[in-house]
Amino acid sequence: MCGCCREPEPDTFKVLIDDGDCKFNAIFAEVMYFHPTIRARLRSIHFLNGYANMTEQHQKIDTDIASDRNVIVNMENKGEFWKPCPGTTQGYLCCGYQIITPATGCGMYCKYCILQAYFSHQCQIVFTNFDDLEREINTRMPSCKGVIRFGTGEFGDSLFSEHLHGLSQKIATLLEPYPNAIIEFKTKSTNIEPLRSIRNPGKVIIGFSMNTPAMVHRMEKGTASIEERLVAARRCVDQGFSVAFHFDPMFVYDPWEADYRAVVQAIHKMIPHPDRIAWVSIGGFRSMSSLKTLLKTKNDHLSLFSGEMILAADGKYRYFRPLRVALYKAMQDEFERLYGDITLYMCMESPEVWRESGMIKRIPKGLVSYLDQRAERILGL
Ligand code: SF4
Repeated sequence: MCGCCREPEPDTFKVLIDDGDCKFNAIFAEVMYFHPTIRARLRSIHFLNGYANMTEQHQKIDTDIASDRNVIVNMENKGEFWKPCPGTTQGYLCCGYQIITPATGCGMYCKYCILQAYFSHQCQIVFTNFDDLEREINTRMPSCKGVIRFGTGEFGDSLFSEHLHGLSQKIATLLEPYPNAIIEFKTKSTNIEPLRSIRNPGKVIIGFSMNTPAMVHRMEKGTASIEERLVAARRCVDQGFSVAFHFDPMFVYDPWEADYRAVVQAIHKMIPHPDRIAWVSIGGFRSMSSLKTLLKTKNDHLSLFSGEMILAADGKYRYFRPLRVALYKAMQDEFERLYGDITLYMCMESPEVWRESGMIKRIPKGLVSYLDQRAERILGL
C-alpha cells in the first residue's frame, strides 16, 4: 500500500468494478477507494469527487413496496421484547440503547431502509401479547441500576401508526413508575397528536430523523417534509417533551455540506434552546450488503452505493473514512456555532473517526456515559 492509500482504517476495503451502468457507457465503480491517479482519470468520465450518483434517473421509488407497507398484521411475539442494541461489535462505538419492539415495520418507504432486506415481508406487524412485554419490563426494571435509555425505533417507525394502535402511549405509561427509565420514540412522521395523553412527557423524548430536503425528496416516500417535522418538534417541546434529532443516514452528494448546515440552521430557528434537545446523532450512510443486493435486482442501487465506499469489518458498506470525517466535522462545527454546548454524538463510528473529526472531546468517559449523563439531567437524577 503506498503513502496515498495509507489511511489506518480498521476496515478492510476492496475495490469492486461494476459495468452495469450504461448511462455513461463506461465502467461504473460502485464501491471504491481508488489511488488518486486512477480517481483523477475516472473523474474525467463521470466520477464526481467521490460522491454518489444522485441523478434523478436513479431515484425511483418502488410503488409495490410502498403500498404493501401500509398493511397491518397482528401477530404474537414468541421472543423477547426487550433487547440491548446489537451494535456493540467490531470496534465501532455503540450508544448503549435498550430496544423495545412492540411492533415492526413502517408505512413509509425509504429507499435506504434496511427493513426491506431484513424481513421477508413488507407489512407492519403489531404484536398482540403486550402483556408479555409488560411482564418483561416489570420483571427486569426493578433490578436495573442507573439510567436506562429505551427506544422503540429499531425495527420500524415509532409513531407512524400510533393513532391505530397506541403502543407508544402504552409504553410511556408502562415506564412511568421507573424514575431511571427514559424512552425515545423515533419518527419521520408528524403523528404526535396521540401522544397528548402521555401523563409525564418529561420522561419521553420524541426523536425526529432528519435529512436534507433534497435527500428526503429523492430517498423517502410518505415521510413528512423537513419543515413539517420541525413544526411537529416545536409542538412536542411546547407540550413538555424533549426532542432529539437524528441525522442518520447522512449522504455525501453535491452540495451536501451547504444543505446539511441549512437543516441545522432551520432546527436552531425552530428550537433555539439546547436544553430542550436531548441529543443529536450523526451517522454517514452505511448498509449491509443485502440491501445492495436487493436494490440491484431492480437496478435501483446506484444512488446509494455509487459513492466512495468501503466494505467494513462489520460487513457494512460505509463511506470512505475521509468522507465520514468531513461530514461529522461540518455538523459539529455548525451545531457548536449555533448552540455552543449540545449533546452531539456519532452512531456506530470507529475510535479513529471520533478522534479525526474532533468529536472525541465529547466523550472523555465514553459514549454510553456521555448519553447516560444527559438522560440523568433530563430525568433530574
Ligand atoms: S421511516 Fe425508517 S422504518 Fe420507515 S421506511 Fe424509512 S427507514 Fe424504514
